[in-house]
Amino acid sequence: MLEITGIHKSFGPLEILKGVDLEVGKGDVVVILGPSGSGKTTLLRCINFLERADAGTAEISGMHVDLKSASKKEVHAVRQKTAFVFQNYNLFNNKTALENVAEGLVTGRKVPKKEALETAGKALDKVGLADKYDAYPSQLSGGQQQRVGIARAVALNPEIILFDEPTSALDPELVGEVLGVMRQIAAEGTTMLVVTHEMQFARDVANKVIFMDGGVVVESGTPDEIFGRPKEERTKQFLRRVL
Ligand code: ATP
Repeated sequence: MLEITGIHKSFGPLEILKGVDLEVGKGDVVVILGPSGSGKTTLLRCINFLERADAGTAEISGMHVDLKSASKKEVHAVRQKTAFVFQNYNLFNNKTALENVAEGLVTGRKVPKKEALETAGKALDKVGLADKYDAYPSQLSGGQQQRVGIARAVALNPEIILFDEPTSALDPELVGEVLGVMRQIAAEGTTMLVVTHEMQFARDVANKVIFMDGGVVVESGTPDEIFGRPKEERTKQFLRRVL
Protein backbone atom coordinates (compact mmCIF):
# COMPACT_ATOMS: atom_id res chain seq x y z
CA MET A 1 0.00 0.00 0.00
CA LEU A 2 2.68 2.48 1.12
CA GLU A 3 6.35 1.77 0.72
CA ILE A 4 8.94 4.39 1.57
CA THR A 5 12.55 3.93 0.62
CA GLY A 6 15.62 5.90 1.58
CA ILE A 7 14.20 9.14 2.99
CA HIS A 8 16.84 11.69 3.88
CA LYS A 9 16.08 15.12 5.26
CA SER A 10 18.30 17.81 6.74
CA PHE A 11 17.43 21.16 8.25
CA GLY A 12 20.54 23.27 7.66
CA PRO A 13 23.49 21.29 8.96
CA LEU A 14 21.30 18.92 10.98
CA GLU A 15 20.56 15.61 9.30
CA ILE A 16 17.21 14.59 10.79
CA LEU A 17 16.36 11.58 8.59
CA LYS A 18 19.29 9.42 7.59
CA GLY A 19 17.81 6.93 5.19
CA VAL A 20 14.49 5.63 6.48
CA ASP A 21 12.58 2.76 4.84
CA LEU A 22 9.13 1.66 5.87
CA GLU A 23 6.22 -0.37 4.62
CA VAL A 24 2.54 -0.17 5.47
CA GLY A 25 0.14 -2.79 4.11
CA LYS A 26 -3.54 -2.26 3.38
CA GLY A 27 -5.49 -2.26 6.66
CA ASP A 28 -2.31 -2.06 8.74
CA VAL A 29 -1.99 0.13 11.80
CA VAL A 30 1.68 1.00 12.01
CA VAL A 31 2.89 2.95 15.03
CA ILE A 32 6.15 4.88 15.04
CA LEU A 33 7.77 5.27 18.45
CA GLY A 34 10.94 7.02 19.42
CA PRO A 35 12.49 9.69 21.60
CA SER A 36 11.81 13.36 21.06
CA GLY A 37 13.77 14.72 18.13
CA SER A 38 14.29 11.34 16.47
CA GLY A 39 12.60 12.55 13.27
CA LYS A 40 9.18 10.89 13.54
CA THR A 41 7.14 13.98 12.68
CA THR A 42 9.53 14.97 9.92
CA LEU A 43 9.13 11.52 8.38
CA LEU A 44 5.34 11.81 8.28
CA ARG A 45 5.53 15.33 6.88
CA CYS A 46 7.86 14.22 4.09
CA ILE A 47 5.41 11.50 3.04
CA ASN A 48 2.68 13.95 2.07
CA PHE A 49 4.99 16.81 1.14
CA LEU A 50 4.41 19.11 4.09
CA GLU A 51 8.22 18.97 3.98
CA ARG A 52 10.35 18.22 0.94
CA ALA A 53 12.72 15.32 1.49
CA ASP A 54 16.30 15.62 0.23
CA ALA A 55 16.05 12.08 -1.14
CA GLY A 56 13.72 9.12 -1.09
CA THR A 57 10.90 7.49 -2.98
CA ALA A 58 7.37 6.45 -2.18
CA GLU A 59 5.15 3.81 -3.70
CA ILE A 60 1.60 4.62 -2.72
CA SER A 61 -1.23 2.37 -3.88
CA GLY A 62 0.49 1.64 -7.14
CA MET A 63 1.86 5.12 -7.79
CA HIS A 64 5.59 5.77 -7.68
CA VAL A 65 6.90 9.20 -6.67
CA ASP A 66 10.25 10.74 -5.97
CA LEU A 67 9.90 12.55 -2.66
CA LYS A 68 12.52 15.11 -3.59
CA SER A 69 11.54 16.05 -7.10
CA ALA A 70 7.82 15.23 -7.37
CA SER A 71 5.89 17.64 -9.59
CA LYS A 72 2.91 19.66 -8.38
CA LYS A 73 0.64 17.17 -10.07
CA GLU A 74 2.29 14.25 -8.27
CA VAL A 75 2.08 16.06 -4.93
CA HIS A 76 -1.61 16.61 -5.55
CA ALA A 77 -2.08 12.95 -6.46
CA VAL A 78 -0.36 11.79 -3.25
CA ARG A 79 -2.51 14.16 -1.19
CA GLN A 80 -5.62 12.67 -2.81
CA LYS A 81 -4.60 9.32 -1.36
CA THR A 82 -3.63 10.53 2.12
CA ALA A 83 -5.07 12.51 4.99
CA PHE A 84 -3.16 14.07 7.86
CA VAL A 85 -4.20 14.48 11.49
CA PHE A 86 -2.17 17.22 13.17
CA GLN A 87 -0.97 17.48 16.74
CA ASN A 88 -2.62 20.89 17.08
CA TYR A 89 -5.78 20.01 15.12
CA ASN A 90 -5.26 22.79 12.53
CA LEU A 91 -8.94 23.67 12.32
CA PHE A 92 -10.29 26.87 10.80
CA ASN A 93 -11.44 28.92 13.79
CA ASN A 94 -13.99 30.85 11.75
CA LYS A 95 -15.70 27.70 10.49
CA THR A 96 -18.05 25.33 12.29
CA ALA A 97 -17.16 21.69 12.89
CA LEU A 98 -19.29 20.69 9.90
CA GLU A 99 -17.68 23.30 7.65
CA ASN A 100 -14.21 22.30 8.80
CA VAL A 101 -14.84 18.70 7.80
CA ALA A 102 -16.54 19.64 4.51
CA GLU A 103 -13.82 22.11 3.48
CA GLY A 104 -11.26 19.54 2.32
CA LEU A 105 -13.89 17.70 0.31
CA VAL A 106 -14.96 20.85 -1.50
CA THR A 107 -11.54 22.41 -2.14
CA GLY A 108 -9.31 19.33 -2.29
CA ARG A 109 -11.64 16.74 -3.77
CA LYS A 110 -14.02 18.99 -5.75
CA VAL A 111 -17.09 17.41 -4.15
CA PRO A 112 -20.25 19.55 -4.55
CA LYS A 113 -21.00 21.52 -1.38
CA LYS A 114 -24.28 19.78 -0.52
CA GLU A 115 -22.78 16.32 -0.84
CA ALA A 116 -19.67 17.44 1.09
CA LEU A 117 -21.82 18.64 3.99
CA GLU A 118 -23.67 15.32 4.06
CA THR A 119 -20.43 13.33 4.09
CA ALA A 120 -19.05 15.68 6.76
CA GLY A 121 -22.11 15.06 8.92
CA LYS A 122 -21.66 11.31 8.70
CA ALA A 123 -17.99 11.64 9.64
CA LEU A 124 -18.86 13.78 12.67
CA ASP A 125 -21.50 11.22 13.70
CA LYS A 126 -18.84 8.53 13.52
CA VAL A 127 -16.52 10.36 15.94
CA GLY A 128 -19.35 11.00 18.39
CA LEU A 129 -19.97 14.65 17.54
CA ALA A 130 -23.46 14.42 16.08
CA ASP A 131 -24.56 17.25 18.38
CA LYS A 132 -21.66 19.58 17.49
CA TYR A 133 -22.11 20.26 13.78
CA ASP A 134 -22.57 23.98 14.35
CA ALA A 135 -19.99 24.48 17.07
CA TYR A 136 -16.89 26.57 16.38
CA PRO A 137 -13.52 25.24 17.49
CA SER A 138 -13.42 27.71 20.40
CA GLN A 139 -16.62 26.13 21.73
CA LEU A 140 -15.10 22.64 21.71
CA SER A 141 -12.70 20.92 24.11
CA GLY A 142 -9.30 19.86 22.81
CA GLY A 143 -10.52 16.28 22.58
CA GLN A 144 -13.56 17.33 20.58
CA GLN A 145 -11.43 19.49 18.30
CA GLN A 146 -9.14 16.58 17.62
CA ARG A 147 -12.14 14.38 16.90
CA VAL A 148 -13.16 16.98 14.30
CA GLY A 149 -9.61 16.66 12.94
CA ILE A 150 -10.08 12.90 12.67
CA ALA A 151 -13.54 13.29 11.11
CA ARG A 152 -11.99 15.58 8.51
CA ALA A 153 -9.46 12.87 7.62
CA VAL A 154 -12.07 10.08 7.61
CA ALA A 155 -14.44 12.10 5.40
CA LEU A 156 -11.81 12.18 2.67
CA ASN A 157 -11.88 8.39 2.57
CA PRO A 158 -8.13 8.26 1.88
CA GLU A 159 -6.00 5.19 1.27
CA ILE A 160 -4.08 5.99 4.46
CA ILE A 161 -4.40 8.39 7.38
CA LEU A 162 -1.19 9.84 8.80
CA PHE A 163 -1.49 10.76 12.50
CA ASP A 164 1.14 13.10 13.92
CA GLU A 165 1.07 12.77 17.72
CA PRO A 166 -2.69 13.29 17.77
CA THR A 167 -3.04 13.27 21.56
CA SER A 168 0.10 15.04 22.70
CA ALA A 169 -1.49 18.51 22.92
CA LEU A 170 -4.38 17.22 25.04
CA ASP A 171 -4.99 17.35 28.76
CA PRO A 172 -4.61 13.81 30.09
CA GLU A 173 -8.32 13.38 30.77
CA LEU A 174 -9.13 14.05 27.10
CA VAL A 175 -6.65 11.59 25.60
CA GLY A 176 -8.93 8.57 26.05
CA GLU A 177 -11.78 9.84 23.88
CA VAL A 178 -9.42 10.51 20.96
CA LEU A 179 -7.67 7.15 21.28
CA GLY A 180 -11.12 5.55 21.46
CA VAL A 181 -12.06 7.04 18.10
CA MET A 182 -8.73 5.92 16.65
CA ARG A 183 -9.32 2.38 17.92
CA GLN A 184 -12.74 2.40 16.34
CA ILE A 185 -11.57 3.48 12.90
CA ALA A 186 -8.66 1.04 13.08
CA ALA A 187 -11.14 -1.75 13.81
CA GLU A 188 -13.03 -0.73 10.67
CA GLY A 189 -9.94 -1.52 8.63
CA THR A 190 -8.57 2.00 8.06
CA THR A 191 -4.91 1.98 7.06
CA MET A 192 -3.09 4.14 9.58
CA LEU A 193 0.46 5.35 10.17
CA VAL A 194 0.61 6.83 13.65
CA VAL A 195 3.34 8.74 15.46
CA THR A 196 2.52 8.57 19.14
CA HIS A 197 3.87 8.30 22.64
CA GLU A 198 0.82 6.28 23.73
CA MET A 199 2.37 2.90 24.46
CA GLN A 200 -0.86 1.17 25.38
CA PHE A 201 -2.40 2.17 22.08
CA ALA A 202 0.67 0.84 20.25
CA ARG A 203 0.45 -2.44 22.15
CA ASP A 204 -3.26 -2.96 21.67
CA VAL A 205 -4.00 -1.56 18.23
CA ALA A 206 -0.85 -1.67 16.09
CA ASN A 207 0.02 -4.69 14.05
CA LYS A 208 3.47 -3.26 13.47
CA VAL A 209 5.67 -1.02 15.61
CA ILE A 210 8.64 0.92 14.33
CA PHE A 211 11.21 2.27 16.76
CA MET A 212 13.17 5.27 15.48
CA ASP A 213 16.15 6.96 17.03
CA GLY A 214 18.63 9.44 15.62
CA GLY A 215 16.99 9.60 12.21
CA VAL A 216 17.02 5.87 11.49
CA VAL A 217 14.72 2.91 12.07
CA VAL A 218 16.46 1.01 14.85
CA GLU A 219 14.04 -1.88 14.98
CA SER A 220 10.58 -2.86 13.82
CA GLY A 221 8.26 -5.75 14.50
CA THR A 222 4.96 -6.80 16.00
CA PRO A 223 3.99 -5.17 19.31
CA ASP A 224 4.86 -8.47 21.02
CA GLU A 225 8.33 -8.42 19.51
CA ILE A 226 9.07 -4.77 20.23
CA PHE A 227 7.54 -4.61 23.72
CA GLY A 228 8.11 -8.21 24.78
CA ARG A 229 11.50 -9.07 23.37
CA PRO A 230 13.25 -6.05 21.85
CA LYS A 231 16.58 -6.94 20.26
CA GLU A 232 18.39 -3.63 20.16
CA GLU A 233 19.90 -1.98 23.21
CA ARG A 234 18.53 1.45 22.18
CA THR A 235 15.00 0.05 22.02
CA LYS A 236 15.38 -1.56 25.43
CA GLN A 237 16.65 1.68 26.96
CA PHE A 238 13.79 3.69 25.46
CA LEU A 239 11.17 1.24 26.69
CA ARG A 240 12.70 1.18 30.19
CA ARG A 241 12.31 4.95 30.29
CA VAL A 242 8.74 5.15 29.04
CA LEU A 243 7.02 2.03 30.42
P1 ATP B 1 8.86 14.82 19.02
O1 ATP B 1 8.45 13.48 19.56
O2 ATP B 1 9.46 15.70 20.06
O3 ATP B 1 7.81 15.51 18.23
P2 ATP B 1 10.11 13.91 16.57
O4 ATP B 1 10.78 12.60 16.62
O5 ATP B 1 8.78 13.98 15.93
O6 ATP B 1 10.07 14.53 18.01
P3 ATP B 1 10.82 15.90 14.68
O7 ATP B 1 9.69 16.79 15.07
O8 ATP B 1 10.76 15.20 13.39
O9 ATP B 1 11.10 14.85 15.81
O10 ATP B 1 12.11 16.81 14.74
C1 ATP B 1 13.42 16.31 14.59
C2 ATP B 1 14.38 17.46 14.68
O11 ATP B 1 14.22 18.29 13.54
C3 ATP B 1 14.21 18.34 15.90
O12 ATP B 1 15.50 18.61 16.43
C4 ATP B 1 13.58 19.59 15.34
O13 ATP B 1 13.97 20.73 16.06
C5 ATP B 1 14.12 19.64 13.93
N1 ATP B 1 13.21 20.30 13.00
C6 ATP B 1 11.96 19.88 12.68
N2 ATP B 1 11.38 20.70 11.79
C7 ATP B 1 12.29 21.68 11.54
C8 ATP B 1 12.29 22.84 10.69
N3 ATP B 1 11.25 23.14 9.91
N4 ATP B 1 13.40 23.60 10.70
C9 ATP B 1 14.46 23.29 11.47
N5 ATP B 1 14.53 22.21 12.28
C10 ATP B 1 13.46 21.43 12.32
